[in-house]
Amino acid sequence: MRIVTIPCLSDNYAYLLIDDADRAVVVDPSEAPPVEAAIEREGVTLSAIWLTHHHWDHVGGIEALCDAHGELEVLGSAYDLDKGRIPRQTRGLREGDGLSFAGHDVSLLEIPGHTLGAIAYIIDGCVFSGDTLFIAGCGRVFEGDMPMMQRSLAKLRELPGETRIYCGHEYTQGNLKFAAAIEPGSAAIEARAKWAASVRDQGEPTMGAKLADELDTNPFLRWDAPEVIESAKERGASDDAGSIFGAIRTAKDKF
Ligand SMILES: [Zn+2]
Repeated sequence: MRIVTIPCLSDNYAYLLIDDADRAVVVDPSEAPPVEAAIEREGVTLSAIWLTHHHWDHVGGIEALCDAHGELEVLGSAYDLDKGRIPRQTRGLREGDGLSFAGHDVSLLEIPGHTLGAIAYIIDGCVFSGDTLFIAGCGRVFEGDMPMMQRSLAKLRELPGETRIYCGHEYTQGNLKFAAAIEPGSAAIEARAKWAASVRDQGEPTMGAKLADELDTNPFLRWDAPEVIESAKERGASDDAGSIFGAIRTAKDKF
């Protein structure tokens, strides 16, 4: 399976997943034109659209893509299907549902918090995490609460360290600035900030980063690291993981 990262809007990413027969799935098409350009460039046939959640900057291209490509499978969570808030959705997914693409089984995780219908798709050692897990950060908690979001991130943290992360936005450099404020003096965070700067200077996305690197540097996956606990307690957190996570997330909202 090949993955093509497609920059959309100002800092969003959509992704084309392409199998050996040049069939493609698009993840989170926030707008149609750059996705159409990638389909054309890669010479592939679009067969399905996978959504991580219902926000406009992830679903905005669905209508135009469905109009242009005919019968497409449009997958999102069962929650979002019930709410009717993803255009043209044909199937509602729950954790544990079976799905496959390009000869790979796809695992689904329900990861509520950013929205109550947020899901992640895991295929071929890659996770499409939407706005829940970012590289070096996480999304805002809009519909759930802090402990819920922390439990969702805990599910993602359990994936193998080699898992590659493909998320909804290029926020990596800003996230690493915040990470450095939470853990001053962290050599791992400093090294990653240099890496991100050199990747972005070349105009490339930071997507495809390894989960193992997140575990050392992403404050939103480090609620049990002494440095992060200390930082959270200075901000009023109690001992439990949800409270520690919540204090850090609230600090990021104001950063
Ligand atoms: Zn979102």
